[in-house]
Parts: sequence; C-alpha cells; structure tokens
Amino acid sequence: MAKTSGFMEFGREKQPYRPVDERLLDWSQVMQPWEGKALNQQAARCMDCGIPFCHQGCPLGNLIPDWNDLVYRERWQEAIDRLHATNNFPEFTGSLCPAPCEGACVLGINDNPVAIKAVELAIIERAFVEGWVKPRPPSHETGKKIAIVGSGPAGLAAAQQLRRAGHTVSVFERDERIGGLLRYGIPEFKMEKNVLDRRLQQLAAEGVQFHCAANVGVNVDPSQLQRDFDAILLAGGATTPRDLALPGRNLRGVHFAMDYLTRQNRRLEGEQLAEEPEFSATGKQVVIIGGGDTGADCLGTAHRQRAKHIEQLEILPRPPGTRSDDNPWPEWPRVYRTSSAHEEGGERVYAVSTKRFIDDGTGKVRAVEIVEVALNPVGGRMVLEEIPGSARELPCDLALLAMGFVAPERPALDQLAVKLTERGNVWRDPSWMTSVRGVFAAGDMQRGQSLIVWAIAEGRAAAASIDRYLMGQTDLPSPVA
Ligand SMILES: Cc1cc2nc3c(=O)[nH]c(=O)nc-3n(C[C@H](O)[C@H](O)[C@H](O)COP(=O)(O)OP(=O)(O)OC[C@H]3O[C@@H](n4cnc5c(N)ncnc54)[C@H](O)[C@@H]3O)c2cc1C
Ligand code: SF4
Repeated sequence: MAKTSGFMEFGREKQPYRPVDERLLDWSQVMQPWEGKALNQQAARCMDCGIPFCHQGCPLGNLIPDWNDLVYRERWQEAIDRLHATNNFPEFTGSLCPAPCEGACVLGINDNPVAIKAVELAIIERAFVEGWVKPRPPSHETGKKIAIVGSGPAGLAAAQQLRRAGHTVSVFERDERIGGLLRYGIPEFKMEKNVLDRRLQQLAAEGVQFHCAANVGVNVDPSQLQRDFDAILLAGGATTPRDLALPGRNLRGVHFAMDYLTRQNRRLEGEQLAEEPEFSATGKQVVIIGGGDTGADCLGTAHRQRAKHIEQLEILPRPPGTRSDDNPWPEWPRVYRTSSAHEEGGERVYAVSTKRFIDDGTGKVRAVEIVEVALNPVGGRMVLEEIPGSARELPCDLALLAMGFVAPERPALDQLAVKLTERGNVWRDPSWMTSVRGVFAAGDMQRGQSLIVWAIAEGRAAAASIDRYLMGQTDLPSPVA
C-alpha cells in the first residue's frame, strides 16, 4: 500500500492544464506535465484495497494499486514495467481515456477517487524522458506472416504484440499516415501527434512494417492478402457517421464533424490542402449537434479557429452533478462532465432536438431550427417528446453533425464476405475469429465506435488468439474475451 493514511491526508487534485488564455492561442496539448510532490501525493491516496475494483473498471486490467505504490516510493522504472505489462500505449490512455477505472475506485464510494489516469500519464512520460522505452524486437522469428488492416490503437496494439511474439507483421492503412483516429480524428490539443510518432518509431524499430495509402478492398485485394499471409486482423474502425436526414441537410455549411476535424488535423500535419473557407469556423456562428466527445473536439477546434459564437446541442437532459440512485458505484458515473474545450467557452444546450436547417436564400445555411424535448414515461418506458410551442431558431453559418458513428465501412468486409452483426459490425467468435477462417477482428470494427482503451485491450486479446491459432499455444496475455 502506498501510504497508510494517504487517502485521509490528501484530497484529489486535477491534472494541471495550461491557462485558457494561453492555450487558445495555439494547438498544443492543453495538459501540462505533472510530477513532484503533488503527483506523489495523488499516488499516495491509493488504499490498495483488498479487492481493487479499478482492475475491473479498466478494460486492460491495468495493475493500478501496484504502480500507485511504486510511484509513491519513487520506483519509477518498476512502475513503467508494471504498466507496460498490461498496456502497450499508456501515453494514449493517460492522455485520452475517460478513466472508467476511476468510476470503479473504492475510494470513490464516499470520497473523490484516486487520480489514476494522471499517475498513469506521469509514469509513461517519465519513462520516455529517462530513455526506458526502448524497442524490444523478438528474439526469434516464427516465419508466420500476419496482415493487419487499419492502424488505429487496436491494429497497433495487435501489431506490437504479434511482432514481439516473432511473427512478420504488415500493417495496411488507407490514409497517408499511420494512427487511425489518433492521427486524424483526435485534435492536437488533446494529444499532440509527436506523442503518437515517438511510439510508432518504437514499433518500426521492432520490425513492424507499415504500408500507407493501402486501402484494402480498393487498391489492395483482400483475397491476395489471404493468399500471402497466414492470418489477417481486421481493425479498420467504425467510421461511417450517423447522419441527420432533415430538411436543409444538403445546404452549404452543414458538415459531418469528422470532415471538419480531419481537415484541421491534416493542416497541422503540414499537408497542403486547398483553401476551404466553408470548413473554417473563423468569425462564424457555429452549431454543433451532438453533446459527446466528438462534439467537444469540434468545440475546442472552433475556439482555436476564432468562431464568433458556438452552441453545442444535446438531445438528452443535462446529467446530474453526482450519481443518481439508479447509477451506483462501481458503475460508470453518468454525471455532468466538463472537458477542456468546455472550460474554454461556448454554450451547451440540453434537451433539444433539431428540426431543420434553414436556407439563407443562396443555398447556404443561415439558422438551425430546434425544439425543446422532455423525457416522459410512455407505456412503461421513458420517451423523448417535443414540448409544443418551444421551437426556435439558432443563427448558424456552420453546422457540425457529431452524433456518433453507425458502423464500419464496407468494401473490404463485403469482398472478404465476413458475417456482420445486426448493427453492421463485424461478427466474431470468442477467439476473435470472424466467420472466415484465419480472418480475425478487433477494436471498433467489431465493437462499434468506442474507446481507445477498449481498442488496445481488444488488439492485445486478438493478438493472443492469432498467436494461438498459428502456433498451437501462446504466451501473449489476453485482457478481454
Ligand atoms: C473525434 C473523435 C474523438 C475521440 N476521442 C476519444 C477520446 O478522447 N478518448 C477515447 O478513448 N476515445 C476517443 N474516440 C474514440 C476512439 O478514437 C476510437 O474508439 C478508437 O480510435 C478505435 O480504434 P480502432 O483501432 O478500432 O479504429 P480507428 O482508430 O478508427 O482506426 C482504424 C483505421 O483503419 C483504417 N482503415 C479502415 N478501413 C481500411 C481499409 N479497408 N484498408 C486500410 N485501412 C483501413 C482507417 O483509415 C483508420 O486509420 C474518439 C473518436 C472520435 C471520432
Ligand atoms: S487505461 Fe483508462 S481505465 Fe485503464 S487505468 Fe488508464 S485511465 Fe484507467
């Protein structure tokens, strides 16, 4: 246990962020490094309780009390060894994970939970500074070849695990750069791309082969992959966006969030894009439809592009400040949250439904019509109903649709003829194999749009299954089934 009385002596503190005025002037990461006494005290709050529910809360099964103790005792190198034992990329989760572990922390029953995610980030950042993160190429080659389709966190985690088991691993990515949503979806201010690049250097040095602009099902023939490789892992994400089939949807100025976010990320990567003022929020009244993380990423991006005014719409009522009775510990707390982008400004509008996009007379959006809704009991279920007479217009010259994603994209899946679930995700059996022998699936492609921590966990689990399929047994760990 870190410090017997730590949880009574020290309160929870938040990961330090750069001041809003400063960070709005650039695209750099809003988080600041956290070390020293304050961080040590956060680790000291861990009670090392008999049954660490945080293990269950974390999809990776991270050994949280172990590394809290090691950080408290300043044994950082052992801490990163314990962390890397379950998580290939703690810098991604330490920066971006919503930390379901903290929702399950036993201290959270009657106090604020341990700042687990901040400790995780501090451990990996220290490890990179100290030079402890080194390539670990395999000690032997199996001669087996695996193709991984998609280079998001699921594909990368599987690639690293399989390469370290001695297999030849080729990652096929349709984009010009490796990283999946970490590269082109998630904005720099949440995690800088150099954080991704330094990890990719490790994978490349270990011998993972990357093929960019290789779109399986379009310019790479999936049946050729089946002939050339001993196994295939489908890790292509679930990137088909949910649309809003409303009057005015086709007006200029109404866009999917990802089309907007991707352009900004590409510009920051130095890609030469044609000027597209339509995709800029500068000087505009922006309406973001969708109250989730993607919407918040649009909000932070629009702030930095100097939007005139921004509203983020959410159809559900504002969540409570603390857990409600039907949402007890250790469930994920469904409470009101404030992201870094929300701290920076903009207005959140709850319990409203979008009715239509209104034309300015030239084919361009000038307003969004919304109506207030309420959750009412109907036939034993809670149903959202419009409140009569509550319709109003929000002035708008850029509307961003951020209502989530419905399914994976199809060409490669159709050509491989893998079975799909009712929701259109890739079906897989408990060994992560799809309906086609030798073809496996992991990450959002089989789960639907989810979280980075799940993608890494599933990439690791699928890697263990592929290793077993190829070799008859495996020493690779498998966090989830
Ligand atoms: C804007 C946004 C912000 C998010 N923020 C967070 C966050 O803060 N925290 C969090 O935990 N999660 C967040 N998520 C969710 C998270 O990014 C995903 O759950 C995660 O990236 C899924 O990983 P994946 O490897 O399964 O797929 P992806 O990251 O989607 O990667 C799939 C890759 O496969 C490639 N691909 C697809 N088809 C083919 C093909 N046929 N041939 C070759 N390549 C192909 C794609 O180009 C892509 O690069 C966010 C999502 C979005 C959209
Ligand atoms: S990966 Fe996420 S859930 Fe797991 S310990 Fe880190 S912050 Fe918590």
